[in-house]
Amino acid sequence: MSNPYLIPVHDLMHKAGTLRRIDIEFPAPEALDNSIAGIPQGGQIVIDGRLESVHEGILVSANVSGEANSECSRCLDPLKLDVDVEFQELFAYSLTDEDDLVISDESINLEQVVRDAVVLSLPFQPICSEDCEGLCVDCGMKLQDNPQHVHEAPVDPRWNALKNLME
Ligand SMILES: [Zn+2]
Ligand SMILES: [Zn+2]
Repeated sequence: MSNPYLIPVHDLMHKAGTLRRIDIEFPAPEALDNSIAGIPQGGQIVIDGRLESVHEGILVSANVSGEANSECSRCLDPLKLDVDVEFQELFAYSLTDEDDLVISDESINLEQVVRDAVVLSLPFQPICSEDCEGLCVDCGMKLQDNPQHVHEAPVDPRWNALKNLME
């Protein structure tokens, strides 16, 4: 199976100043997530931008977009989050630093840069709305659905202690 992140750049190599647009779309071969939110395997990934031949290699400036699944960190409702993030990376002709990305077999592999850009853009505490009130700590009911509900049960003794202190 071919890797959809692999982009042939033969036409741009050693032609500084040459540009080529990229606009690709494919289902994610693997999920891109931070364990709280993420684009699932098979979720559509769109990469839109340009490749620029520069002296040292190929400079990629692009935007990656997709839709991540998550759940509200307050009420636990499922959520869809729009992912839309830009990245810029140089793929060098030769390795000068071990962190460098290199052109190999006349292609560049965007997988790691796309993964990093997407994962870093994902929230760790997504919420369904700014005023989400979360769940009732006593019964787990979603407070927005039933803001008036009260419990007959006695209040937590710790609250009584606090109330006594305040009086
Ligand atoms: Zn919520
Ligand atoms: Zn309750």
